[in-house]
Amino acid sequence: MKPFDTIIVADWSAAKRAPAKPSKDAIWIAIHGQDPLYFRTRQDAESWLTDTLRAEAAAGRRTLACFDFPFGYPAGFARQVTGSDDPFALWDWFEAHITDAPDGTNNRYAIAEHLNTLTPGPGPFWGKLKREDHPGLPYRKEGIDFAPHGELRTCDTVARAASSCFQMNFPPTVGGQIMMGLPTLNRLRRAPGVGVWPFDGWENADTVLAEIWPGLIEPAVKETPGIRDAEQVRLLAKALASLSPQELAPLMTDLPDAAREEAWILGAEARDLLTARARSLAPPPLKNDCFALPPGIHWTPVDEALDRLRATLHPVTRTETLPVLQAAGRILAADAAARRSNPPLPNTAVDGYGFAGGRPAGVHCLPLVPERAAAGDAPGAVPDGHAIRVLTGAALPDGVDTVILQEDVTASATEIAFNGPIKPGANTRRAGEDVTHGDVAVQKGTRLGPAELALLSATGVAEVQVHAPLRVGILSTGDELAELGTDARPGQIFDANRPMLISLAGRFGHESVDLGRVPDNREALRATLDSADCDAILTSGGASAGDEDHVSALLAEAGAMNLWRIAMKPGRPLALGLWNGTPVFGLPGNPVAAFVCTLIFARPALALLAGQGWLDTTGFAIPAAFSKSKKPGRREYLRARIRDGRAEVFASEGSGRISGLSWAEGLVELPDGAATISPGDPVRYIPFAGLF
Ligand code: AMP
Ligand code: MG
Repeated sequence: MKPFDTIIVADWSAAKRAPAKPSKDAIWIAIHGQDPLYFRTRQDAESWLTDTLRAEAAAGRRTLACFDFPFGYPAGFARQVTGSDDPFALWDWFEAHITDAPDGTNNRYAIAEHLNTLTPGPGPFWGKLKREDHPGLPYRKEGIDFAPHGELRTCDTVARAASSCFQMNFPPTVGGQIMMGLPTLNRLRRAPGVGVWPFDGWENADTVLAEIWPGLIEPAVKETPGIRDAEQVRLLAKALASLSPQELAPLMTDLPDAAREEAWILGAEARDLLTARARSLAPPPLKNDCFALPPGIHWTPVDEALDRLRATLHPVTRTETLPVLQAAGRILAADAAARRSNPPLPNTAVDGYGFAGGRPAGVHCLPLVPERAAAGDAPGAVPDGHAIRVLTGAALPDGVDTVILQEDVTASATEIAFNGPIKPGANTRRAGEDVTHGDVAVQKGTRLGPAELALLSATGVAEVQVHAPLRVGILSTGDELAELGTDARPGQIFDANRPMLISLAGRFGHESVDLGRVPDNREALRATLDSADCDAILTSGGASAGDEDHVSALLAEAGAMNLWRIAMKPGRPLALGLWNGTPVFGLPGNPVAAFVCTLIFARPALALLAGQGWLDTTGFAIPAAFSKSKKPGRREYLRARIRDGRAEVFASEGSGRISGLSWAEGLVELPDGAATISPGDPVRYIPFAGLF
């Protein structure tokens, strides 16, 4: 399906001329990305639509223009009126019969009354302003038999819409809106290049008219303070614009047969998706030059490359609001403030007896009040000089600020005795001593783990704003690669990088998307990148500048590619670029190099894209168990592990030795400069446990 460039959403009205001051129940139209427009009359709205649709088409922009009233009636109704099942015959009929004066006066009730004469029995149209008007139009629905066509369309049932095409009065007055809307649509559809979804001919149309229903995103609309109708069109346009072509296409094409006559509500089956998108905040796109390196440098030091990534990337994932229980593993998009202190009230940390004030050394006797305070209780005040039995977690009753452990007390039914001294406040927890109401409980950028879920719950935070998971596509390239489980021809090797990278991205906390394997063929690679629905893509192989290095060639052709020659071992050039706005990390093909480059470069960059912020690698100094001397000019990463308190390194530094990756439990990082390492010298060890 050809993607849409412009999204327009209109909230139609059957009412008379609306007041000059923008108000609800008038016509509101939103173009995605702009403030909604207010129209006082249908004529004004229609002429704006005519001009705007023409201008968009002239500018070569494909437009989806959506309207909030049914484009058809329940199957069988059109035939009753026009003798044909063609929905456009009915559109023509309405255009020929509806009158609409500039002040908004119109004949819709008379038309409904007339249509009722075409079917036996009362109805199907019903609802009017006054009981005594239009005798052929019932005031209420009772007694109407909607045979032979039924009251609702298939899509109304799927969308769980309560409104009916036949209801002329009392909200929702959909019946009137259709009659006052279809004549306008019928004129709009006659312009060249205009198609009506899902009726014949929409697929190749430059301008597509479609039906939507704001009820699908009602939860999102309710949360906004603006004029309801304006918010409906603004948020619907935003939600529709956020859908990728892969998300939108099935909503437009996988429809039941009934839709050919009855029409369909766009997104009827995607209520949750549209609501989430209406609520979410889409981030700005990455800049085209985000991977540009400063000119003149031949080999870029690792730290400089990292600084560059850190400076130019920013979060690319949408944000949405989720209940805390569903937010595990998500990244917080805004600071979560405590809605309640923890603990909410002062309470006792132990089982014992509570009273007011400390006591000096010596023997003390206190009478007991008959009540008891357990966790969750709210007993009355305790008089001065009295004590109360308290159990761990109980809120301190008024008159109690100190608790003595039950083990330190001799108790009868009516009094206690104990030895001082005891400090005032002993064995109690202050209200808010952990977190105070209004404090930031969990900071933006935190990935929500078990501890954060406990903290948010304890502080009364029920919903959090989080980033959508970062979708990381993983793609292997190379003619030599065979799929696991098949017979590899001589000369072929099994694709080892893809399973490795899919697992790594998942361990980083992202959503891995398997983009499969492509041969060394530029068109195949282009097609795969084009159809990838991801926030970032990791490719391996083909990243250098040789004949078969199609990843770098293709990114270079797209104009947003840079070959980063990083002064490190293992690792050949890293091809970094944007493909249709999506960042692509072209990793080396050698599994060891792909692995190390992913940990050193992709891990922090992906975290930044995901909204988590930059992640530094955590390492520490540990004595070496090996000797090595290295030349200056590049940083080296060795496969390593700790045994007997020393870092040992894998016997071979060969970049194809995958066994060494499995042998290793971390990396030893040797500095950019020259170094001579003897056993016992400190080296920097970076454990895998801190990376994935
Ligand atoms: P390239 O970067 O495409 O020149 O590949 C460098 C080396 O890595 C070659 O020996 C490739 O065969 C190997 N290689 C590339 N991709 C993979 C992969 N997905 N799995 C295992 N080895 C690979
Ligand atoms: Mg290759």
